[in-house]
Amino acid sequence: MPRVKCEDLCPEWPCEQPEEFKNVWVYGEIEPGRGIREPSLQMLTPARKIAEKLEGKVVGLLIGHQVTAYADDFIKYGADEVLVVDDERLKEYYPDVYGHVIVQLSLKYKPEVILLAATMRGRELGPYVANTLRAGITADCTDFDVDEKTRDVLLIRPPFAAIMLAYIRTPFRRPQIGTARPNVFPLPPRDESRRGEVILEKVDIPKPRTRLLKRIRIEKREVPIEKAEVIVSGGKGLGSPEGFKLLQRLADMLGGVIAGSRKAVDAGWIPPERQVGQTGRSVKPILYIAVGISGAAQHMIGVREAGRIVAINTDPDAPIVRQADYSIIGDYREIVPAIIEELEELKRKGPKAIEELLK
Ligand SMILES: Cc1cc2nc3c(=O)[nH]c(=O)nc-3n(C[C@H](O)[C@H](O)[C@H](O)COP(=O)(O)OP(=O)(O)OC[C@H]3O[C@@H](n4cnc5c(N)ncnc54)[C@H](O)[C@@H]3O)c2cc1C
Repeated sequence: MPRVKCEDLCPEWPCEQPEEFKNVWVYGEIEPGRGIREPSLQMLTPARKIAEKLEGKVVGLLIGHQVTAYADDFIKYGADEVLVVDDERLKEYYPDVYGHVIVQLSLKYKPEVILLAATMRGRELGPYVANTLRAGITADCTDFDVDEKTRDVLLIRPPFAAIMLAYIRTPFRRPQIGTARPNVFPLPPRDESRRGEVILEKVDIPKPRTRLLKRIRIEKREVPIEKAEVIVSGGKGLGSPEGFKLLQRLADMLGGVIAGSRKAVDAGWIPPERQVGQTGRSVKPILYIAVGISGAAQHMIGVREAGRIVAINTDPDAPIVRQADYSIIGDYREIVPAIIEELEELKRKGPKAIEELLK
């Protein structure tokens, strides 16, 4: 298919031509004192796929103070090169300052694609960079592909209120920018033998327009659902908030946490930070037990990375039954207490009985 003529469609033509842009960048968000945050490293998975199709490199981007040491982690997880701006004035994160740094680097190096994890920071920086560079941005992508004829990246995401997927492209502007939520993509395996180039850059660092007055640490008592290995999740089928008390007992016995569907959140049975799905969180537990959840596409997007899915549902034709690894058909008010009783019995018998069961 021939490329549509830019001058016929774009009032800003002539702009820089897409052919001048190359490589796929991944912004590496830093957890002070710890290193690159896992959601940023997960973005190396789609970055590698795009870079291979575009025959470009994956370039990690590190911005901050005393961050150069983390460049090696980026390489071990799959970056070919790392661009580092390490400066004392970047010790505190200010969106306008960090955004300005990314914009300057983009103008110099012309990346074809920039990917950011859709964390609070990514959601702030991505639109800042896209708007300043007058490029497009697609938020909360669930997949990426490349149209190999035009080299356009296809930024794939579910549109609002629909079950289908939208394939979004920005044919006339570069870089193409996309974000994806944490846990939508798996963490690539760490390869200790990987080697790559680290480029230290100096750029203009403006004064921030805001001032940090105070840092307040919010104590989190419960494990966030994104980090949980076992999740017992409830939906509208629980019928009332009381149902969650039963699910909490099961979750406690399995060393897990409770979560829920959007209908459960809308009903006020569970807080919004425990919602799984498109407008909630993406999770990657080893075991996801969905109780009274029908399995709508917007819910299932959030459990793509789950190890095993067990459905408990009265309806054998519910969509979740087709997608689960195991399904128990029946009323959860009978099934969940029976599982709890079984687990209590096992606990009484001791670790040997559990080992026997797992054989
Ligand atoms: C733009 C958009 C974004 C959305 N984002 C999300 C999102 O992030 N997360 C999300 O979850 N949804 C989301 N939704 C809503 C989604 O489309 C569904 O409406 C929702 O997931 C359904 O919730 P549910 O499965 O709890 O309820 P229902 O679909 O009502 O299903 C209830 C299930 O419980 C079963 N049941 C009933 N009684 C019992 C019983 N006694 N024992 C066992 N099973 C029983 C029923 O058979 C049924 O399958 C979104 C929708 C839109 C339009």
